[in-house]
Amino acid sequence: MVPAGRNAADRPGSEHPNLSYRFWAAIILVMACSLALGLTLIASYHNDLDASRDDLSKLQAFRLALDAANRLTAERGPANSVLGEEPSLDSPSRQRLIAFRTETDAALERISATAQLKPSLDALVQTLASARQQVDALARRPLSGRSNAEIEQAVETMFGVFDAAQPMLSMVMTGLLAGETDLVGHAMVARMLSELREYAGRLGSHLVIPMASGLQIDLDRRGAFELSRGRVLALWELAGQQTGASDDARVAAAHQAVVERFFGDGMALLERTLKAGQSGEFGVTPTSFTHLIVPTFAPLEQLRDAYLDVTVEHLQMERNVALRSLIAVVAATCLALIIELALLVASQNLLFRPLLRARSQVLALADGAVQEPIDGRGMRGEMRSLFLALDTLRHRLIERNTLDSERAALTERLRKRADTDGLTGVLNRGALERLVAHLHDGTAAPTAIGLILLDIDYFKDVNDRFGHAAGDTILKEAAQRLRLALRRDDVIARFGGEEFAILLMDPHVESPVDVAERLRTILQASPFTLETGESVEVTASLGVARAENQDGGWPALVTAADRALYVAKAAGRNRVEEDRETS
Ligand code: GH3
Ligand code: MG
Ligand code: MG
Repeated sequence: MVPAGRNAADRPGSEHPNLSYRFWAAIILVMACSLALGLTLIASYHNDLDASRDDLSKLQAFRLALDAANRLTAERGPANSVLGEEPSLDSPSRQRLIAFRTETDAALERISATAQLKPSLDALVQTLASARQQVDALARRPLSGRSNAEIEQAVETMFGVFDAAQPMLSMVMTGLLAGETDLVGHAMVARMLSELREYAGRLGSHLVIPMASGLQIDLDRRGAFELSRGRVLALWELAGQQTGASDDARVAAAHQAVVERFFGDGMALLERTLKAGQSGEFGVTPTSFTHLIVPTFAPLEQLRDAYLDVTVEHLQMERNVALRSLIAVVAATCLALIIELALLVASQNLLFRPLLRARSQVLALADGAVQEPIDGRGMRGEMRSLFLALDTLRHRLIERNTLDSERAALTERLRKRADTDGLTGVLNRGALERLVAHLHDGTAAPTAIGLILLDIDYFKDVNDRFGHAAGDTILKEAAQRLRLALRRDDVIARFGGEEFAILLMDPHVESPVDVAERLRTILQASPFTLETGESVEVTASLGVARAENQDGGWPALVTAADRALYVAKAAGRNRVEEDRETS
């Protein structure tokens, strides 16, 4: 049951902050979405990062393999020189050969850690060792003891070493296929440039062999030369297209150097030497030819290295972008979660808790607790204005309460004045009769058991002798003496000029007559003192009527008491008479 006058907000259970819970649920949902979105993005960027790291390490592995292949090509230059001179352990060509071989071995050592390449690497190392043995065995013999065919075979074996490195390169490139398609393209260009360098070297070798033996270039040799040249041009057509289109300055410069140094100077030298060689008059020694031609190959190596550098840098940049994106997404996700959490806390502190506080304040005001000031400390903005409004309401309620209590006091004063006799302060006759009416309709308790009518004797004479004011004084004191002699439940009223009515209420240990006798004695016992100092002796006559003898209600009771009073007066006054009649 809802108590009357209280509204639904007071109901037990309605304190549940539903809105707050819904807000919590919404924020938690938003947080979950942010987290899901963030984690998806983080996973995606993390994959990108992994992929670019993977690509980078594969490209670096490819580069090491390609570097080893390039060393094999480079080693052939000094090998050719050694084959073209008398045996020596410390000639410049021999020293260069030793240095180049050391570099080749170091390059092969670097890729030996890759287990995957082990089988093809082992085969390569074996081929290389036997090719070197062949070159060294031949170089130990004097120049005159080396046949053209033997030199040719040694050089061919060295060509075979480069060819033996190709399965290893293909295997590394297969690994790149799993990554970006772009990367395989770049690797292929680099490999073509590496091959280009190899075949450029072979062009030189084709000329050095007959040069070392002092033979003219025959048709077979020329055919081999043309084949290598065709290969060089075909490779350049493909690879040069790529390097020529590069927007990187280093690649562009290296490309230009290849065009000028190799395809310009180098090819011209080769053509010239080929032409001269056809008549057997080379005009240069193998060593000096090697010294002239090898530097024109250098731009091919530089172009290959620059092209690979740019590819690696591009991959590193991609990896850095992926890393930065990953960091940004992680930071953004954390920030979003922190903001959402802060929103949750702020909503509790700035909205829902103050709202519940405002609700308690409203209920307190409704219950009349207006003395406590409204505590709006720490509130800001709209909440502050809500609490200020509540405080205004509190002040209005205080004003209204004050007004209400003043009005109530006034009403009470007026009611008292209407019921009270102005002179004596006891009830007036009208109030007595209203009270009696209440007693009869049962809205007041207890019931009356008797009525005494008391009339002061010879009061007219008192007035005449001492004055009207003195009469008033005596009436006041008489009323006071009578009031004090009665119980709280008994009712005394001024019934007429100098006549009082005393209504005796149940229960009463004394009989109405006894009470009347006591009252009479009290008035007579001591004289009344006037303001002038004079003393006046006053007596009264009393008529008593018992309620139990009267069925006629209040009028009958009054008549009976009046009748008894009349008898008392008639019998000489200063006495009590009880009405014996019943009706
Ligand atoms: P008894 O009752 O003994 O027969 O004689 P009495 O002189 O008392 O009776 P009466 O009825 O003749 O006179 C009543 C007087 O009471 C008349 C009136 O002047 C006086 N009296 C009535 N009311 C007041 C009052 O309020 N003040 C004063 N001073 N006198 C009053
Ligand atoms: Mg009288
Ligand atoms: Mg009288």
